[in-house]
Amino acid sequence: MTRSNEWKIASTHMTDSTLSRVGSSTATTSRAHHDAIVSATRVGKRFETPRGPVDAVENVTLSFAPGSFNVIVGPSGCGKSTLLRMIAGLDTPTSGELVFGDVDGKSPTNALVFQGRSLFPWLNLRQNVAYGLRLQKLPRLDRNDRADELLHLVGLRAFGRSYPHQVSEGMRQRVAIARSLAVDPDILLMDEPFGALDEQTRLLLQEELLRIWEQTGKTVVFVTHSLDEALMLADTIYVMSAQPGAIRTVFEVPFARPREFTSVRSDPKFAELFTRTWDILRTEVNAARAQQEQEIAG
Ligand code: ADP
Ligand code: MG
Repeated sequence: MTRSNEWKIASTHMTDSTLSRVGSSTATTSRAHHDAIVSATRVGKRFETPRGPVDAVENVTLSFAPGSFNVIVGPSGCGKSTLLRMIAGLDTPTSGELVFGDVDGKSPTNALVFQGRSLFPWLNLRQNVAYGLRLQKLPRLDRNDRADELLHLVGLRAFGRSYPHQVSEGMRQRVAIARSLAVDPDILLMDEPFGALDEQTRLLLQEELLRIWEQTGKTVVFVTHSLDEALMLADTIYVMSAQPGAIRTVFEVPFARPREFTSVRSDPKFAELFTRTWDILRTEVNAARAQQEQEIAG
């Protein structure tokens, strides 16, 4: 996949918590992992809580190739968001090692997109998209041009002057994606970004995200509850186990690209892959439920 130059913008250190350069005490750049943009070796995260330690993530070993589309699925509470936050540099592993490849001699930058209410209600859509660029001290005219370009990319060029409350949830989520792309991150981290949308909007946004990904060549790490969504989007699906979350199984998704909903769904391999993935996931979801029931009972 080629990275189009049109998308390159000098990235500087971001102070906004959702737009940050990767860099934590355990994050290092290593030649040995130069093929991967992120690689985790036996990464774990333990939270100390008043009720005792909670192992949110344990023994996660994986690596993401530059430009790849990676989807993480797993039962609720298994540590998906924790893993994403560690990749974002918002949290640090308590065991193991998270190593970042280098992009033009630097540690990769990232942006995190999550579900719902992430826009500033007092800024219009264009200002929301331009927010990170303002932090980067880009001149106003350049910011506006860039924001308009991105609004165009997500099909909202005509809505720049609208405010978040004046548009639909699906449109707000598209703006959130545009905003994260504005700072040209190397890695796009998405935590159930379409989870609150109705199915029709969700299907349209999946296709749109794939188109944007193909155009920009970002590395994507996408968390979802939905196996359909995972199969539609992913190069590779990582199924996590019940808490503490480890990588239970990895599936390569063979569908040709560019993908469309109808062609993916009508592919005979879809049903087979869905069943294989669900077989594994179901076991983990049941294990997670049993754990939760025990916690409530105890
Ligand atoms: P998921 O995103 O897969 O639903 P999370 O990563 O949000 O799961 O959480 C995994 C586990 O870690 C849960 O048991 C959660 O309660 C716990 N956890 C997450 N963040 C914290 C925190 N800051 N302090 C204590 N426990 C936490
Ligand atoms: Mg989560």
